[in-house]
Amino acid sequence: MATVVVKNELNVYESAEARFELAAQKLGLEEGLYRYLKYPNKEVTVYLPVMMDDGRLEVFIGYRVQHSTVRGPGKGGIRFAPDVTLDEVRALAAWMTWKCAVVNIPFGGAKGGVICDPARLSRTELERITRRYTAELLDWLGPERDVPAPDLGTNEQVMAWVLDTYSMHVRHTTTAVVTGKPLDLGGSRGRREATGRGCLIVCNRALAKLGMKPEGSRVIVQGFGNVGSLAALLMHQAGFKIIGVADIHGALYNEKGLDVAALMDWVYLKRKLLPEFPGGTRMPAQEILFQPCDILIPAAVENQLTSRNAHRVQARILCEGANGPTTALADEILEKKGVFVIPDILANAGGVTVSYFEWVQDRQGFFWRESEVNERLQDVMEHSFDEVVRYSETHGVNNRIAAYMLAIDRVAYALKLRGIYA
Ligand code: NAD
Repeated sequence: MATVVVKNELNVYESAEARFELAAQKLGLEEGLYRYLKYPNKEVTVYLPVMMDDGRLEVFIGYRVQHSTVRGPGKGGIRFAPDVTLDEVRALAAWMTWKCAVVNIPFGGAKGGVICDPARLSRTELERITRRYTAELLDWLGPERDVPAPDLGTNEQVMAWVLDTYSMHVRHTTTAVVTGKPLDLGGSRGRREATGRGCLIVCNRALAKLGMKPEGSRVIVQGFGNVGSLAALLMHQAGFKIIGVADIHGALYNEKGLDVAALMDWVYLKRKLLPEFPGGTRMPAQEILFQPCDILIPAAVENQLTSRNAHRVQARILCEGANGPTTALADEILEKKGVFVIPDILANAGGVTVSYFEWVQDRQGFFWRESEVNERLQDVMEHSFDEVVRYSETHGVNNRIAAYMLAIDRVAYALKLRGIYA
């Protein structure tokens, strides 16, 4: 396998680009198409004046990047976090393009973010930031243009505010302008669990491929938010043994298995700190990544496995619930160790797949049963997993580069069919 070149390992945009370069080279992508797909379509920075509860006027910085709309409207979350950067949003937008293409849904890729700390903002301040951000992007957003969803620091309520702001401006309720919204506003059954369920589905597929069984397989999950907690819960219910979990406050380890349902009550109903749950041994959050297990699911933030620590991973399967948890330099170390990697653009694509189902249901005005949503999700995830693995075997590349190659090939083909305008 050719090696990747990056100047700053922790710059996620460079990490994404390094994989793109390698996959494009393996595919023999034409020079012009390569140039077209390397850069985003559009990017915008917005400065959001917001009146704070104490009467102060603050200005927040927000971004939206549309990487590609070749296969359909832009699709991608909005992130509220203190360390959001334009490079990060660019990388996430490109990943959305490849992710939608890997699971073959008719969307391009986009992403947005606002530099703010939701933990330090009141509900009314968050609402004003969201509404102003949406209003500034009014000409960009829309069911046929660009469809946001939740990401780190945003949730169903934030999506409801985006929906309302957009609808007030266009003078009619437009539910399909966002996904991941509350059920009562046109959300989809099964969306909340979709990313975690997608992880479960691809892990089952990987175990079957490696001749291993789910029952009793030892799983470690880093991140206990939407993706991590629901992946852990669904896998626990499916007979996996969840031996370690972590969130920002620290990690918990129990080789006999944790009671994930009780842990969810502890964190989400009782509102207590995860590492204080009586049922495991505490350890620093990052250490959980290096305990022996069958499946490791980083489902928190980027850059967790790097060239400095990837050699310490003791998992047979790495299922990337988060976007970009592994740096491009760590890829090579994991490959040498023989870890079976289910790359982020496949592993966490369950969320965008059910977002697509949500968008379809909104436009149909007809809503599906949860079992229908889950069944369709299973079809998409299993089929996509099989395609990536087949691509990897046919082209003699690792799963990540195979997923990129499959995705780039699909986007490039659509681009060729459309041709270049003017
Ligand atoms: P979230 O905000 O609901 O949860 C994030 C979790 O990570 C929290 O439990 C937090 O405490 C934990 N965390 C943060 N920093 C940590 C650290 N340094 N060490 C350990 N834990 C840490 O976010 P989410 O929606 O679950 O998203 C998690 C990741 O999955 C992100 O990379 C996101 O882009 C990606 N993702 C999310 C979805 C989705 O549907 N929500 C879909 C695809 C990808």
